[in-house]
Amino acid sequence: MEKIGKRFQGKVAIVTASTQGIGFSIAERIGGEGAAVVISSRKQKNVDEAVEKLRSKGIEVLGVVCHVSNAEHRKNLVERTVQKYGKIDVIVSNAAANPSVDSILETKESVLDKLWEINVKASILLLQDASPHMQKGSSVVLISSITGFNPPQGMSMYGVTKTALFGLTKALAAEMAPNTRVNCVAPGFVPTHFADFITRTEEMRKSLEEKTLLNRLGKTEDMAAATAFLASDDAAYITGETLVVAGGMPSRL
Ligand code: NAP
Repeated sequence: MEKIGKRFQGKVAIVTASTQGIGFSIAERIGGEGAAVVISSRKQKNVDEAVEKLRSKGIEVLGVVCHVSNAEHRKNLVERTVQKYGKIDVIVSNAAANPSVDSILETKESVLDKLWEINVKASILLLQDASPHMQKGSSVVLISSITGFNPPQGMSMYGVTKTALFGLTKALAAEMAPNTRVNCVAPGFVPTHFADFITRTEEMRKSLEEKTLLNRLGKTEDMAAATAFLASDDAAYITGETLVVAGGMPSRL
C-alpha cells in the first residue's frame, strides 16, 4: 500500500459487491489512493465488517446494504452517496451470480432471468440512477470475466452474460461520452468465495495455473490495480475497452 499514489484524491467512488473478494480489493485500492469509497453488498454484517477494515486503514468509507437487483436498494445507494459526498466520480459494477452448472439448453428460465438480472441488467439500472450525478471526467468500470470470450462448459450461461458486458461497455462508452468513460476488466481465475472451485482440488488449481503464461492464479489485488488504472485519469484517453487481466491466458487477439 505504501507504494501506491493518490490518483483519487477528492473523488467519490461506488463499488458494488465490495465486502469481500475482488470488489473489496478494488475499494481498498481506490480508497487507499484517496477516494471516498461507498461499499455495499447484500448483508449488513458483511458491510459493517468491511467498513471497519477499510476505516482501520485510514480510508474514508460509507457502507450501504445493496442487493444489486433490488430497485430500492440501488436508489438508496445512489442517494446516500450523493447526500454524504455530493457527487459520483467512479462506479465499479462488480456484482455477479453463477447459480448453475447446467448446460445452456438445460438452464431453467428462472435461472436465465436471475443471471440476466444480476450480471447485466442491474449494472444498467444502477447507471440509470447514478448517471445524473456523474461528473465531467468520471468513469465506469464493469467487471466481466475471461469466460466472456469463450464461455466454458459448466459456466456457459454465466460466460454469456459476461460476453454481454463487452457489448454493454462499447454501447455505454458511446452513450456516456464525452463526460464519462466506460471500460471493462475481464479477470482470469482468482481464488475467492465465488470461485472456490479453483482451489477445491490440487489438480484443478494446477490445471488453471498451467493455462496462464505467468504460472499462477490471479490475486484480487491484480484486478484492483487494473480497475484503478481504468478508473483513474491515467486512462483519460481510454474508453469502450476491455482489459484482460488473466496472466496471459488465451482470450482474443
Ligand atoms: P466474492 O469474493 O465471492 O465476493 C462477492 C461479493 O459480492 C461479496 O461481497 C458479496 O457479499 C457480494 N454479493 C454477492 N451477490 C450480490 C448481490 N446480488 N448484490 C450485491 N452484492 C452481492 O466474488 P469475486 O470472485 O470477487 O467476484 C466479483 C466479480 O468478479 C464478479 O462479477 C465475478 O463474476 C467476477 N469474476 C471473478 C472471477 C474469479 O475467479 N473470482 C473471475 C472472473 C470474474 P454479500 O454476500 O454480503 O452480498
